[in-house]
Amino acid sequence: MVDIVLKVVADAFINGREIMDTGVSMIGLDGDNAFCGNCGREMMHDVPFRDMKSDLLFRCSCGSVNEAPRNS
Ligand SMILES: [Zn+2]
Repeated sequence: MVDIVLKVVADAFINGREIMDTGVSMIGLDGDNAFCGNCGREMMHDVPFRDMKSDLLFRCSCGSVNEAPRNS
């Protein structure tokens, strides 16, 4: 399990991509911790979000839309 700070995506780049609302923290069983790239709130705990669809976006309760950082 590692802590990952997500990357904020500007509204102009959302382009109809699916957005998952993480206003309430998601808690999984085996995965990584994700933090909002804007406010630093923990959005997901032990969630394997890097195995989800790569274009999925995550909305924080602060209003920022985040994506998982690319590994490249
Ligand atoms: Zn936030």
